Amino acid sequence: MTSKSPGNIGPVTPSRLGIQPVGEVAEVAEGVHQLKVPIPIPLVYVSAYLVEGEDGWTLIDTGFDYGEGKAAWEKGARSLGFSLERDVSRIIVTHFHPDHLGAARWLQETSGAPVYMLDSEIRNSRAVWEGGDTSRFVEHLVRHGMDRETTEWATASMRTSLALPEKMVALREGEELPLGPGMVRVVRAPGHADHQIVLHDEGRRILFAADHILLKITPNVGIWPETAPRPLYRYEESLRSMRDLPVELVLPGHGPIFHDLSGRVDELLAHHEERLEEMRREIEGGPKTSFEVSRKVFRYGLSIYERCFALAETLAHLDHLVLLGRAERMEDGDFVRFRAS
Ligand SMILES: [Zn+2]
Repeated sequence: MTSKSPGNIGPVTPSRLGIQPVGEVAEVAEGVHQLKVPIPIPLVYVSAYLVEGEDGWTLIDTGFDYGEGKAAWEKGARSLGFSLERDVSRIIVTHFHPDHLGAARWLQETSGAPVYMLDSEIRNSRAVWEGGDTSRFVEHLVRHGMDRETTEWATASMRTSLALPEKMVALREGEELPLGPGMVRVVRAPGHADHQIVLHDEGRRILFAADHILLKITPNVGIWPETAPRPLYRYEESLRSMRDLPVELVLPGHGPIFHDLSGRVDELLAHHEERLEEMRREIEGGPKTSFEVSRKVFRYGLSIYERCFALAETLAHLDHLVLLGRAERMEDGDFVRFRAS
């Protein structure tokens, strides 16, 4: 794929593929169908991909464990002429978030097919969804400036338990798998989630991009209690490493399909640079907690759930400013604050 020449940079535009309504399927490449699975959060749907192969259908991502989502799966399979009970050979989950993993157990019970995830994501999912202890989550948000009452309320709704599939099979980074008429390579894609994967079909120039590279919205890159150090650094490194992959079709986990991978990578890198500078200005006047900065940088009136994401994302940026030598982290008593340096 050729790089863009300077002066040729315009906003990346959506594809004409995958413009069907929520709840319906559309073929987006030979043998690859996108199902927009409705989800009960503001993102409205998650895009699952159903790929027909000689040994049956592969399903990529699942939606929440949610009635309307399950109905969409049943209707989608019917409209493609296959049976969820008999014709599914495997289910691949890109990362542990409940809009991707949530219905995996139901799909496994329905189909009998194994669920594949990155080896380290299987361990991480167990720790997050079967751990049961939410106190670390509360303490993390409180230390970064959110008040305890809001935090406890948010934690109760965000860290409910999730029933995991009984049989999970480990994928390894770099592994190649047959998928439909092609082969895909498992590429680790940290940032939005530490153990997220994307799938690259080099021969067909397709990238199943999960929540790593989205159009219209920028993937949330945050620091949560279980996040490995320097998520924004690792996200940007990963984006740069994928920028020039041979890809002509990007199939994301949310929002429109698009074609210009390198253009979108450039936009995402520029977005984070702007955000870093915006946040640095907020801490020029004196030390602030991540929560205080997030209230300035993100629009007012976010739901409590969205405020948690805003805080985690702000913290990831402030942490990255420290790494770049543009801010310092101050631990005083019960709170962590940042100030520009
Ligand atoms: Zn998602």
